[in-house]
Amino acid sequence: MSEEYRILNASENISFIKKIDAINWCTEKDYNSNVSWQPACWPSNNPKSSSFRIWFPRLSDKRNGEYIPTSSGFINYLSEDWRFFIFDDTNGYNPDPDDRYLGLSIIFAKDYYGDYVYRGVYKLDLEKSGANHFVHERIATGVKLIGKPVHGFELLNEVETNEVDSINTALKPKDIIFKQNGTVKYICARCDYEFVKSPRCPECGQLIRE
Ligand SMILES: [Zn+2]
Repeated sequence: MSEEYRILNASENISFIKKIDAINWCTEKDYNSNVSWQPACWPSNNPKSSSFRIWFPRLSDKRNGEYIPTSSGFINYLSEDWRFFIFDDTNGYNPDPDDRYLGLSIIFAKDYYGDYVYRGVYKLDLEKSGANHFVHERIATGVKLIGKPVHGFELLNEVETNEVDSINTALKPKDIIFKQNGTVKYICARCDYEFVKSPRCPECGQLIRE
């Protein structure tokens, strides 16, 4: 018999009004739904011990095009395509690098209407982050939460790590073909066009990395 599971998919606009209801749905635990869940995460204590957590950040409002920090001095925002979730701490708090959570975060971000909307599974990107600037990149749009109560997960619709926005970000050829007459042909990683070795794909303009 296969185990029970729940699936979260970012294309399905899954939202909850209360954090506790999202937690109960995801984990199949039975927290008292009348008691409000105060922490920003589940599990609330030492999430570093957990391979994943559920995180409920509140998105910052904008005024005159600028994000307004919360009373705690935090600014949270999502890129328009939901690929990045950014947390800025305007207090200049510098966490001990060992205290950063490096597991996966299932994010339900609170929108301007007060609903916690599921956005995807994110991971802190250390290279893009700074001392008080934390960039989380979405690594999957879906997740399967396994067990009752939950004890594991499986990523669904993982975002390709070589996904690029610009043809000017060099990509390795998808394939390299050595012809018998000595010419070398590349298959473009962006458009699959086959062409004689050159710095750019003549079809789509993709910059090629050797
Ligand atoms: Zn191409």
